[in-house]
Amino acid sequence: MVNQKNKQLGEARSVIREIFEYGNARKKVVGAENVFDFSLGNPGVPAPAEVNEEIVRLVSTMPSLALHGYTSAAGAPEVRQAVASYISAAFGVDMSAEYIYMTCGAAASLTVTIHALCEAGDEFVVVTPFFPEYTVFIEGAGGKAVMAATDSRFHLDMEALDAAIGVHTKGVIINSPNNPTGAVYSREELAALGKLLERKSREKGSPVFLIADEPYRELTYGAEVPYPMAFYKNTVLCYSFSKSLSLAGERIGYIAVSPQCEGAADVFSAVCGAGRVLGFVCAPALFQRVVAKCLGRSGDIEEYRKNRDLLTGTLSACGFTFVPPEGAFYLFMKSPEADAVAFCERAKKYELLLVPSDGFGVKGYVRISYCVERAVIERSLPAFRALAKEYGLI
Ligand code: PLP
Repeated sequence: MVNQKNKQLGEARSVIREIFEYGNARKKVVGAENVFDFSLGNPGVPAPAEVNEEIVRLVSTMPSLALHGYTSAAGAPEVRQAVASYISAAFGVDMSAEYIYMTCGAAASLTVTIHALCEAGDEFVVVTPFFPEYTVFIEGAGGKAVMAATDSRFHLDMEALDAAIGVHTKGVIINSPNNPTGAVYSREELAALGKLLERKSREKGSPVFLIADEPYRELTYGAEVPYPMAFYKNTVLCYSFSKSLSLAGERIGYIAVSPQCEGAADVFSAVCGAGRVLGFVCAPALFQRVVAKCLGRSGDIEEYRKNRDLLTGTLSACGFTFVPPEGAFYLFMKSPEADAVAFCERAKKYELLLVPSDGFGVKGYVRISYCVERAVIERSLPAFRALAKEYGLI
């Protein structure tokens, strides 16, 4: 009667959402201030002032019909031009407006890109741990997800990638700064990855595309975030303003196809076609224009840095172990027992809501989203200490 696969997907709530809903229920029982919900990656700092200023300016100066009407399917021409000019100036690559497709956040950027590239039998390599929706997006497009492990610091492992990429590989998805680990890939890593993908494309006789998922590009604590297109020509960049500008609910982002891509015009046509198939044409018109004036900006990252430092300082003093995050707003902590799901259940006794790593494609870790109010972290510290005591860490 209905598509069974989609029915199952719709009924299976994501683990993260499940924990978030549990937290809401607990808040009603024990009081909101006593529940420490680290489940969701919802930005916790306000959008920068320019965002509201630009909204006010647009609604007070642009005729309503022009402002709120449909734009071209791929986006308003002046917005696509602004994005292309920004990319060219900021990252030293030669981007052109005809290769920019405005979309509804990173989720749409990724689904459109994967649908644009995927043919029957194609595989997409994802590096573990990964954003859980990747497998949904890949399988939804009829592709197969193939996992490649990262190294002990969650950086790219070229040998694992080499082994995972084969004749059926259409693309490799990377995400830096990374959710859930906070890793930021270096120039050297991207250069090595570019070389590997060039060799793999030669061996295969057709391009292996690099799909760079970059909703956290601006959110780093000092680490440089090199631009993937500068290291490998067959790159499609999936950008979102959800996290950088704290606009997650407004659903705005873009796809940038490298003009150097083999068959770039065909790739872009396929992006436009996939946008039609999936109904993602004409991204929200007001927010296209708002983000065009706020390119490269972010909310106050110092707030995230303070959260990170407060949390990592206390957790390491408690004997928990982790690789300090270099970017984004997630801490990926080793579970003190092998079963991370069991650890998260025990943490719930202290009203600590953590996400087990199983859904991210690895076992034995938890993700802690620290994009929450500082006070939540401050109030949670005794609970983390009590949890550490229970495990004999202190
Ligand atoms: N990719 C990664 C790595 C993410 O963490 C997220 C959201 O958390 C997304 C994509 C989806 O972002 P958006 O809200 O812009 O669709």
